[in-house]
Amino acid sequence: MGEFELIRRFFASAACAAGGEGIALGIGDDCALLQLPAGEQLAVSTDTLVAGVHFPDDADPFLLGHRALAVSASDLAAMGGKPIAFTLALTLPAARADWLDGFARGLCAMASGCGIGLVGGDTTRGPLSLTLTVFGRVPVGQALTRAGARPGDLLCVGGSLGDGGGALPLVLGELKHNGPEADYLLQRYWAPQPQLALGQALRGRATAALDISDGLLADCGHIAAASGVALWVDADKLPLSAALEGLFSSEFARNCALSGGDDYRLAFTLPASELAAILADWPEVAVIGRVEVGQGVHLLDAAGIELQPPALGYQHFGSQGD
Ligand code: ADP
Ligand code: MG
Repeated sequence: MGEFELIRRFFASAACAAGGEGIALGIGDDCALLQLPAGEQLAVSTDTLVAGVHFPDDADPFLLGHRALAVSASDLAAMGGKPIAFTLALTLPAARADWLDGFARGLCAMASGCGIGLVGGDTTRGPLSLTLTVFGRVPVGQALTRAGARPGDLLCVGGSLGDGGGALPLVLGELKHNGPEADYLLQRYWAPQPQLALGQALRGRATAALDISDGLLADCGHIAAASGVALWVDADKLPLSAALEGLFSSEFARNCALSGGDDYRLAFTLPASELAAILADWPEVAVIGRVEVGQGVHLLDAAGIELQPPALGYQHFGSQGD
C-alpha cells in the first residue's frame, strides 16, 4: 500500500473527514481552508505522542486514536474554544491495514463526540508517533487564559482527579486487576472526555483555566505563575472517583490526584458569585481551594496545616529523568 492509497483509504474517506461547520475545504489540496465567523479568533494547539514515551508500543490502535484526539481537544476546552478541525501527522513503521483501520475508527469516534473534522495531515515512515493539531474558535477577547486569576477567587476542578495516574500501572501492565473499577480507570485513561461544554460555559465567568495533563499541582503552578498569585489547595477536598478509592490506598489515591498526569479535567479560578450557576449545570465541579496574594501552589490538610507536596508531575527533559 503506497502513501496516497493509505491516505485515501483510511483518512480522506473516513467519516470524520467529511467536513463540517467552519471547514471550507478539507483533505486533498495543499492546504485546508477554515472559515471563522466575524468577531472570532482561531485557537490552535499541537500535541505529539511518541510510542514508548506516551503510550506502550503495542497499544490498541482504536484506543490510541481515541486518546490522541481527546488529549488535543482538551486544550481547546481549556481555552473555552469550540472545535472546528484537526490535522494528523502520522509516522508509522509499516502500513498495516488492521492497525490503520482501528486507529482511524478510534479517531473518528472521538471526533464525532467533539464535533471536529479531520482536514489534513502528513504520512511518513519511521518509529510510531502522532502529532495532532487542533483548531477551534472563540469570540475575540473571551478565550480563557492562565493569566487572570485574582485573590479571592475559588480554585475549582471539573470532576474527579487522579484516575489517569491510577490507571497508569494498569496500562503499563505493572498491576493486574479485573472488574468494573479497573475498567473505569482504563476508560478514563484511554478515552478521557475533553470538557468542551464546560470550557465554553466558563467564558466570561472563570478568570483563568487550563486542562490538567501533568498533574494538579504542576498545572496549578502555571496558573499561579501566569496570574502572579498563590493557589492554596485543600488536600481533603480533592474529588476522587469510587474506582480510584476502591482499588488503591487513600494515600496513593491522593497522590494520584495531586501529581498524577493524564486527567484532562479543567482546573479554573472562579469568582464565588459565579459558582452557583456553574454547579447548576455541572454538579461534578468541585471547589478545591482558593486564590490568594502571593506566589506558588500550597497544599493544606484538613486542619489547615501546610503539607509538603508529593513529587511534581512528569516533565520531559526534567531533573526527574526523561
Ligand atoms: P503535500 O505533499 O502537498 O504536503 P501530501 O501528499 O503529504 O501533500 O498529502 C496529500 C493530502 O492528504 C493533503 O491534503 C494532506 O493534508 C492529506 N494527508 C496526508 N496525510 C494525512 C493524514 N495522515 N491524515 C489526514 N490527511 C492527510
Ligand atoms: Mg506532505
